[in-house]
Amino acid sequence: MTSIVRDIINTLHGQGDTSHSADTDMREVLEHLKKLAPRAIEDSTVPQARTQPTPADAVLSVLRARGGDTAPAALVPGISSSDRLIPGAAGELPARIYAPQQAESPLPVIVYFHGGGWVIANKEVYDASARGLAKAAHAIVVSVDYRRAPEAKFPAAWDDALASYRWVAANAGALQGDPTRLALAGESAGGNLALATAIAVRDEGLTAPRAVLAVYPVAQTGNMDTESYDDSRDALPLNKAMIGWFVDKLLERPAQKSDTRLDLINADLAGLPPVTIINAEIDPLRSDGDMLETALREAGVTVDRKLYRGVTHEFFGMSAVVATAREAMQFAGSQLRRAFHGDAASAVTAPRKAFRGALPRKSGVGQGASVGKIPALGYAAKHSFGGLKPFEFERDAARADEIEIAVLYCGVCHSDIHQVRNEWSNTVYPCVPGHEVVGRVTRIGAAVSRHAVGDIVGVGCMIDSCRHCDPCQSGDENYCEGPNSWLATYNGPMVPAAKAPNQSNMYERDNTFGGYSNVLVVSEDFALKIPPRLKPELAAPIVCAGATTYSPLKHWGVKPGDRVGIVGFGGLGDMAAKLAVAMGATVTIFTRTAEKLDEAARLGAKGVLEDDTDAFAALQSSFDFILSTVPEKHDVNPYVRLLKKDKTLCVVGALEMMSGVDNQQVAFHRRNVAGSLIGSLEDTQEVLDLCALHGIGPDIEIIDIDAINQAFKKVEDGAVRFRYVIDMASLTADGRRTTTEADAGNTDAAGTPAESSEAEPIIEGALLL
Ligand SMILES: [Zn+2]
Ligand SMILES: [Zn+2]
Repeated sequence: MTSIVRDIINTLHGQGDTSHSADTDMREVLEHLKKLAPRAIEDSTVPQARTQPTPADAVLSVLRARGGDTAPAALVPGISSSDRLIPGAAGELPARIYAPQQAESPLPVIVYFHGGGWVIANKEVYDASARGLAKAAHAIVVSVDYRRAPEAKFPAAWDDALASYRWVAANAGALQGDPTRLALAGESAGGNLALATAIAVRDEGLTAPRAVLAVYPVAQTGNMDTESYDDSRDALPLNKAMIGWFVDKLLERPAQKSDTRLDLINADLAGLPPVTIINAEIDPLRSDGDMLETALREAGVTVDRKLYRGVTHEFFGMSAVVATAREAMQFAGSQLRRAFHGDAASAVTAPRKAFRGALPRKSGVGQGASVGKIPALGYAAKHSFGGLKPFEFERDAARADEIEIAVLYCGVCHSDIHQVRNEWSNTVYPCVPGHEVVGRVTRIGAAVSRHAVGDIVGVGCMIDSCRHCDPCQSGDENYCEGPNSWLATYNGPMVPAAKAPNQSNMYERDNTFGGYSNVLVVSEDFALKIPPRLKPELAAPIVCAGATTYSPLKHWGVKPGDRVGIVGFGGLGDMAAKLAVAMGATVTIFTRTAEKLDEAARLGAKGVLEDDTDAFAALQSSFDFILSTVPEKHDVNPYVRLLKKDKTLCVVGALEMMSGVDNQQVAFHRRNVAGSLIGSLEDTQEVLDLCALHGIGPDIEIIDIDAINQAFKKVEDGAVRFRYVIDMASLTADGRRTTTEADAGNTDAAGTPAESSEAEPIIEGALLL
């Protein structure tokens, strides 16, 4: 049990009537359920229990009271359903098949098992969950009425669940489904069936599901003294006594509780596909989810668990009236879609390689109904012409694993200009640029553990990645091979939905708004720690320009004594040279500008003009590594000749078709010509730490945001040798500056207060630290 959960428990008022701690939406449903006056299940006969009003009836009651449409198709538009029989383990079973109406076939198929303690309820009662999943996961859902106890005792339901999956795997094509993209899902007792079926499928060697979704699953029945069995023992609509009643009807003998089909905690879980667990705060089964998460993790299974506050057992199907249910359904849908759109090989994962812990999203606490929108202010381009103008917009408030950042500084990268001008023909407008962000954490989601309010953090080019592909699992998120690649800090996913396989939109957005704004919300995993020694304004360009140049220097193993060439001496070349010097290399900078030769010397490097043929002749076959930072197409051949045998020239500045490479020069000396794109999270953190350690940083000029259009022009004209950094205190609704936090004396994390931009506009990073 995490301390977060313990905190939640401590906030419960009185354990006798847990509806007091339910959120407003949930409480309304519970009030309606009480009015429907269901008979206590644990005091009922089985026939009585099966005819009592259900939580789903309470949802309809709320809708009717509001005058809303209660038709299932109206509640979840765009999903059709049809009933049929499918073969079970001992005869045919009623099933309902849900399918998105406008779908490009074939779709993935989810086999879904309803709840009801293996004794009561059926696919009708859980229609909203199954129908909602079809929409949220954009998949076909097959909801199965497996046999129930006491007529069919344990393990009849498990046998039927496996038979259902077997049938779907063999007949997916006939359902317009894709037999290679299957998943298992279930709620409560059905959550147990979903996971138990995944185990059986593994053991029988059937086509593995890509993912398992277990919504408040029963993970064991042997221990009914867990924390949640205690604090939610009298909860609605599920209480401890009911579960005892269900288990009594289910089992022939109490000893069956330890059968690992039922006792999942003690089952062999190794080799299962990724599992998503959803739990409700006010639910006797909450601790089961916690224990199951631990058991799966220990077995090396990828597991994401979210615990939603202020809601009870059965909330998952209540999207029509409970905001938190909508959030949980979206989470479930995006988890399943991610699994469906990854490649089959990575769906069943080996235990993850050791990595800094960013992957995958950790389990957490959903913020429930409190997730909403926050107002934001920024500068945006509405078209490719006309420049940037003030722009008011909204961001999603921080989710459980996200942090909200007050932006202090944002660097101006050449990419910002390319993007705003649509020079890569992929700009989504409005475009709020900025991916060299440093800010102060102002709010954290309930599951955040890396950062605290008040921390100074950086955000670079990425704010998310698929987290499941091989590159993501090995810490190379910047080369994410998910269907939409990584999610850029602005301008949305690197591969937009229109160009992604099956029009995948795994991040559920087409555009993102960057750091030319007052506030940013980002997954905690994609925020970097700014070392206290590093001034925030200097750190800003490091998260892009620093990472972009450090990553190849690191990848190609630059070490003390190596001879390193840097081609181009703008913003990237400046950082590259400083980093290579700090890494102990002997550095030569190639530039076309005579005035920059002195500057090269100031950095401890040798400057060479790019048309100095004598110098080039003298440098033949002398470099261990060459990094080209020229931001446009250029001829690399003169530099290839300068490499030693087996050494590499890497291009990071240009992202276009390059002129031809003279392969004689490459082949005769087994040289390499390569490329590299930005840096991973790990690279970015390392370069920040390295800069702090060695006291290096970019040369910057701080500007107010209303000077951004002139700054773009100067960068385009090549008139600046330093990086512009926007002081975001200059961005206010009324155009008047706010006091920066640094000005206000908050020097704990920043080290020293920032200079005001009027007093000292140019900061030479290499000298000031
Ligand atoms: Zn950049
Ligand atoms: Zn990935």
